[in-house]
Amino acid sequence: MSSDMRPVIGLEVHVQLTSLRTKLFCSCSADYRGAPPNTHVCPVCLGFPGALPVVNRKAVEHAIQVCLALNGTVAKRLRFDRKHYFYPDLPKNYQITQYLEPICSGGYVEIETSGGRTKKVRIRRINMEEDPGRIVYPGGSPLTSPYALVDYNRSGIALLEIVTEPDLESPEEAVEFLEKLRSILEHLGVCDCGLEGAMRVDANVSIAGGDRVEIKNIGGFHEVKRALAFEITRQRDILLKGGKVRRETRHWDPVRKVTLPARAKETEEDYRYMPDPNLSPVKIPTSLVERLRQSLPELPDARARRLAEQYGLRSDVAKVLVKRKVLADFFEDAAQLYKGDYRRMANYLVNDLLNWLKDEDLRGLYTKVKPEHLAKLMQLLDKGVISIRQAKEMAEHIAKEGKDPERLVQELGYTRITSREELEPIVEQVLEENKKAACDAKKNPKAINFLVGMVMRKTRGRADPSLARKLVEEKLATIQC
Ligand SMILES: [Zn+2]
Repeated sequence: MSSDMRPVIGLEVHVQLTSLRTKLFCSCSADYRGAPPNTHVCPVCLGFPGALPVVNRKAVEHAIQVCLALNGTVAKRLRFDRKHYFYPDLPKNYQITQYLEPICSGGYVEIETSGGRTKKVRIRRINMEEDPGRIVYPGGSPLTSPYALVDYNRSGIALLEIVTEPDLESPEEAVEFLEKLRSILEHLGVCDCGLEGAMRVDANVSIAGGDRVEIKNIGGFHEVKRALAFEITRQRDILLKGGKVRRETRHWDPVRKVTLPARAKETEEDYRYMPDPNLSPVKIPTSLVERLRQSLPELPDARARRLAEQYGLRSDVAKVLVKRKVLADFFEDAAQLYKGDYRRMANYLVNDLLNWLKDEDLRGLYTKVKPEHLAKLMQLLDKGVISIRQAKEMAEHIAKEGKDPERLVQELGYTRITSREELEPIVEQVLEENKKAACDAKKNPKAINFLVGMVMRKTRGRADPSLARKLVEEKLATIQC
């Protein structure tokens, strides 16, 4: 592929500040998920005439923390603008957002590219804004529904709109960026980004020679990758055929796995931005910014370095652990309860348990599987009660059912046979049943492996292999051929 066919990708990520108890401009509860429609509403978030918004102070603090964690510059003052457009989920007919003075400018997120190189993805700006309500189609989609419903519970939820420069060059890099961003937000404690709709992505894609295409509202990182891959192929095809890529907005259809043209988008001028007269600009005190800077928690990159050093982990394993805060927390909590081979524990968590936990977005961590379980399992391995293979087989039960490893060992009949008395009769039986092989083994030591294998098979892998070998050798010495 020639270098000028390389895609240029920029992202706009909408992040709900899910840790807030109330909405951005009113005191309605922000915990709207699962609530009956239109029960978390008031005159402010329903846009009644004369209702006055009041800024949620915590939301401003969270926005500043995100800005600092992404290496950005915090604005000198807090100012909000109105962005006008008509849509049923927006009862005021304008959205309160930031246009001329975003709370944060500049900054970057460091990601690792497929070549193992680190790369800085620049952040252009971060805006604070309110989420609109939600349109619900009873038949599943506009085409299959005779009418639409509007639920304003989400209306007014605090959002950050994080806009990158077009620094990303592949769908994989875009996902790498989103994963890193999610982990930073989780470490800051401002977003439980696994919640439905808590992190929503728009992507701009272009290829040299073509115009920029915007793909709106892609849910889930996996979908982002697919949507970008589809769009890049579509644009390349047009350019290779000598056509022209038009500037447009498209939607990602996750069912048909294609991007489709959407309504012609308003231009910036159409929005008629103007300062919100109900929210006069206020100074952001330097002392507040400094206090928040001092109180920033340990962020993913620093944590990965510390985990590698403190527990002797391989750096790639440490990086996997910090991709999700809950995973790294879980590892460290288990490490408090277990002194031993941390490397083996991290590998087991990342390779075996994670395999069974990722479908439910790690919801099983702490709720089903507890740090004690992982610690106990490692102790069972250390004591030789179970083999590595058995530990791997137990992963599904521990992850999905939250079973205590000690009980599981009993239930699965995994206890290892380490006593001479128990194993001796089994070895004798094996030699009796394999007389010819036993006589061969007396002359050819290599044939002993076969007999040990038979003992392992008879005990369904429960025999301690070194004890089995020892007993086979002993018994061979006593038999006559
Ligand atoms: Zn309200």
